[in-house]
Amino acid sequence: MKVIYLFLSVMFIISCAEKERTSDPISSAHKKPKNIILVEGDGTGLSQVSAAQFFKEGPSNYDRFPVVGLIKTSASSDLITDSAASATAFATGIKTYNGAIGVNPDTIHMPNILEIVSKKGLRTGIIVTSTITHATPACFYAHVKNRNHHEEIARFLPTSEVDFFAGAGLQYFNKRKDGINLLTTFQENGFMIDTTSLKEHIDAQKLGFLLAPESMPSMLEGRGSFLQDASKMALKRLSNNEGFLLMVEGSQVDWGGHDNDADYLIAELIDLDNTIGALLDFAIADGETLVIITADHETGGFTLAAKDGDYNTIVPSFSTKNHSATMVPVFAYGPGSEYFGGVYENTEIFHKILKTIGE
Ligand code: MG
Ligand code: ZN
Repeated sequence: MKVIYLFLSVMFIISCAEKERTSDPISSAHKKPKNIILVEGDGTGLSQVSAAQFFKEGPSNYDRFPVVGLIKTSASSDLITDSAASATAFATGIKTYNGAIGVNPDTIHMPNILEIVSKKGLRTGIIVTSTITHATPACFYAHVKNRNHHEEIARFLPTSEVDFFAGAGLQYFNKRKDGINLLTTFQENGFMIDTTSLKEHIDAQKLGFLLAPESMPSMLEGRGSFLQDASKMALKRLSNNEGFLLMVEGSQVDWGGHDNDADYLIAELIDLDNTIGALLDFAIADGETLVIITADHETGGFTLAAKDGDYNTIVPSFSTKNHSATMVPVFAYGPGSEYFGGVYENTEIFHKILKTIGE
């Protein structure tokens, strides 16, 4: 009797496992995504993401992702990456040196994902809370050997494949040392540029927002819902039959980490979390959108430590004013998300995205 019971139990477990496997996204999904949304929380390691769970009112949107992976982030030049080498890894699929913008270790221009998918007819967008010429966004449209060359980076944007962008850094376009006014160059290339506020311009074919001379204000300084609003505007504008690629960056989570300022960091993280919620809502309703959330590296050696011996009180703490080498998480949802589980190099983000669309 015991033996029969054991046998039946085993059969039951096997059939459950079988059932599980057939509904598993890895075996069932070869559906190609039409739209791709890549979100980067600059400096957002696992403790930063965990902070959303403890310090945000209501559930974190990170909790809604079915697929989770981890990436290794070292640069070709250094064990610890900066944002430029890491964004070049995401955008072009190669390891390069810290400071490189879309170029390989020999400073050769590497084709980036935005250039690649726009050739297939996808529309493209970039939204950041830093200058649009900052290291992370720059790697998606420029090819420059040093991240500090903001004016050189800016020259790439008007003639790039970008259809929509929002961020700051106006001074690198209209108050340049070389005297060139790139706002005119934008116009010549079919762009409408708004330097005053985030509002829709229905007639503009391509649209860009440069909303501050240098950086956007932080959340604590009153940036409000800019990141979410710009993201929703981009989703509306970029949606079309061929699909789109949208890159969204929570740029200032990193700056809170560099400042070792937990309030700054957490306010930026919650803003990013809310934006991720809006993007994920779109993807769920749409059904053809792949959403990937990741980070370029961790900043601050941030940790959620127990206060002395009190295990019921968290003290957000830092161990460095710089970046750290720790792996950072990847969250994915939608068609193609099954490729993003596991432990892999940051360059794989590029290769996996191309794989999902059959490139
Ligand atoms: Mg950045
Ligand atoms: Zn940083």
